[in-house]
Amino acid sequence: MTTLAERLAKRIASTGPITVAEFMAAALADPQHGYYRRADPLGRQGDFITAPEVSQLFGELIGAWLIDSWHKLGQPSPVRLVELGPGRGTLMQDALRVGKLAPAWLAAIELHLVEINPALRKLQAEGLAPQGPTWHESLETVPDGPLLLVANEFFDALPIRQLVFVGGQWRERRVGWSSEEGFGFVPSPDRSPLGALVPMQIPGVAEGAVYELSPAAIGVASEIARRVSGFGGAALIIDYGRIAPEVGDTLQAVRRHTRVNALEEPGAADLSAHVDFAALSRAAIEAGARAFGPVTQRDFLIDLGIEMRARALSRSATPTEAATIEDAVERLVGRGAMGALFKALAIAPPGISPAGFPAED
Ligand code: SAH
Repeated sequence: MTTLAERLAKRIASTGPITVAEFMAAALADPQHGYYRRADPLGRQGDFITAPEVSQLFGELIGAWLIDSWHKLGQPSPVRLVELGPGRGTLMQDALRVGKLAPAWLAAIELHLVEINPALRKLQAEGLAPQGPTWHESLETVPDGPLLLVANEFFDALPIRQLVFVGGQWRERRVGWSSEEGFGFVPSPDRSPLGALVPMQIPGVAEGAVYELSPAAIGVASEIARRVSGFGGAALIIDYGRIAPEVGDTLQAVRRHTRVNALEEPGAADLSAHVDFAALSRAAIEAGARAFGPVTQRDFLIDLGIEMRARALSRSATPTEAATIEDAVERLVGRGAMGALFKALAIAPPGISPAGFPAED
């Protein structure tokens, strides 16, 4: 057992089963042993690969989106450019490279990175030094003011709670522990009041069905919307997830590109869950902003011109490089690759229509 597993087992033995959110928060963000507190989890040698690591096209198009949004907002200066969970800093480096074509934007931005992983902070510092970033543990400490924000594969790492339908009632799905079987899911003995949050008309509710909610994700979306509606701004959230409310257990663990048991070795594997985009939209609207989308990553990137940009890059490339570019585009927008599972959502104040989304929902 990992040290964290031992600690969690002791905690459960003394105070009873914990929520999935508590388990996930410890597994990912425990100050000493949390998965995201340790070494670099990204890239070919790491546990998973993300869109910015697939191709520079991704970050460049997002750079263009940020610059376009800034123009639509009336070019506020200074503007806080915030990235939630910047990983290796690749997306931001690619976005800033596009900024060379927009020197007024480059001069207006103040870079803030929300990152809890010290190894990744170091990589970000190396790649983004010219921009003099400031690091934060959470969005809360980024100073108020006009905002441009991007979050790619950040929300899926936020803790979720799970409800499970047992005996005609929604109960909290908790994590228990026994010396014979280790960690395992157990429903709470009684009905959970959170059952009131499950949409009435949701299909597929049957014995054993799981419904997920993420108060943490809703909190972040709401904080983004508060800033955007209060000070002006635009935010782009990209992640895998669902457009409409659905039942389903989406908690997954990945280690070295392989799915592993989510409860087996807390802290050793990446834990994530599908993002509930409908909930993020509602949180944004509730806080006074507008939500755009979600649209699929495929539609978003094609609308922003990924194919044109790829053709332009290929013109000056060797045949091998051109094949790599074509392959990358397919991975980013292909329906069987990231194109359909990943969604994009924008949050902006009334009166602004961000690029890549059908005008106002
Ligand atoms: N956006 C990057 C990295 C995605 S991985 C990319 O697309 O490649 C998730 C990122 O979020 C990592 O940088 C991780 O360290 C960070 N992260 C995870 N949980 C976090 C939290 N609670 N607060 C701040 N950063 C977090």
